[in-house]
Amino acid sequence: MAVQIEASICTACGDCEPVCPTKSIVPHKGLYTVKTETCTECDGEADMPQCIDVCMEEGCIVFVD
Ligand code: SF4
Ligand code: SF4
Repeated sequence: MAVQIEASICTACGDCEPVCPTKSIVPHKGLYTVKTETCTECDGEADMPQCIDVCMEEGCIVFVD
């Protein structure tokens, strides 16, 4: 379980990086990417993924299997 960032929508604002409790969001090629191996979807940390909560771009961060 994890989320991913849609590169075509991400504005690289950086707002999601500091709110991630597992430090799974990292800069990548001028944008940001999610390390799916450590993303927990914020399970046990918050009611919803904190990155999705702060991202202003609709549909930018989505769930993946
Ligand atoms: S869902 Fe939570 S753990 Fe996963 S990248 Fe977003 S803030 Fe980090
Ligand atoms: S908050 Fe959204 S738009 Fe901003 S860097 Fe993160 S994924 Fe990209």
